[in-house]
Amino acid sequence: MKLSNDYIQEVVKECRPFASDGKVIDHLPGKDQSHLTNLGITIVTPEGEVYSAGEEKHAFSIQSISKIINLMMALEDFGEETVFQKVDKEPTDDFFNAISNLENYDHHRPYNPMLNSGAIAMASLIKGSTVEERFERVMAFTRKITSNENVSMDNEVYESEKKNDSRNRSLAYFMESLGILPHQELEPALELYLKVNSLAVTSHDLARIGCFLAEGGKVNGEQVIHPRNVRITLAIMMTSGMYNESGSFAVDVGFPLKSGVSGGITGAVPGKLGIGIIGPAINQKGNSVAGGKALIKLSEDLSLNLFQM
Ligand code: GLN
Repeated sequence: MKLSNDYIQEVVKECRPFASDGKVIDHLPGKDQSHLTNLGITIVTPEGEVYSAGEEKHAFSIQSISKIINLMMALEDFGEETVFQKVDKEPTDDFFNAISNLENYDHHRPYNPMLNSGAIAMASLIKGSTVEERFERVMAFTRKITSNENVSMDNEVYESEKKNDSRNRSLAYFMESLGILPHQELEPALELYLKVNSLAVTSHDLARIGCFLAEGGKVNGEQVIHPRNVRITLAIMMTSGMYNESGSFAVDVGFPLKSGVSGGITGAVPGKLGIGIIGPAINQKGNSVAGGKALIKLSEDLSLNLFQM
């Protein structure tokens, strides 16, 4: 199969109907059930080719895809050793906002940086003297890796995230009690985590993030982050990026992915391309239903599975 806009259009057409099996999360401003069957898909290659179709211009909040941004920045700012003292690398079959595993787990730290707890811990490792300064750094990094100077925060989403932050707040307090979050870091880490969740992106931006990772951390030939930090991020996306559905996606799709509850997914096929998807109808595990189907089709048609011989 050859990549073309027509081919992506065909994928959109074939996968869009599956959206009716999911639900649009309704506490996110700008999103309601009228977006149920939206589906936008973009593919970007390191050579700069772009293939796109569907609701590719639709801007939506990045939500949990921000977890890979937090992880990359924490790795760059504090290094691997400090990062993995605060968070482990292990997958879990718990839901993304689970609190119980913080108590049960021997090491008393989040299982991995793709869980809300892990991502809040990573936000505490993003450098800057104020939350504003730290967020500006995150934004500058995101603008760079998406090659989009206009990426910014959706204020309405941020206000709503703040109003609905009781679960994340409990996770932060719990981590304070475990000694993972120092008391003075609790509010800043939480605020930063929610702000990064509220960045508005399109499937183009997500595809560029995927392509940045697929190219080993380069933008226009410039090495932006250390290649080892890219490798760590891709490995953790592969094992935990689709939460407690990561195993199924590893089997059926076979390359690193990260999803968010707004129905976005970023995919990276190392050395080959980046994929960005928006499909707001999600399943119970928090993953886009039509987006998941599209990934399976893309992986098969374009032979993208890393484990195929
Ligand atoms: N804003 C959501 C939260 O913090 C993001 C979760 C997600 O996308 N899975 O719970």
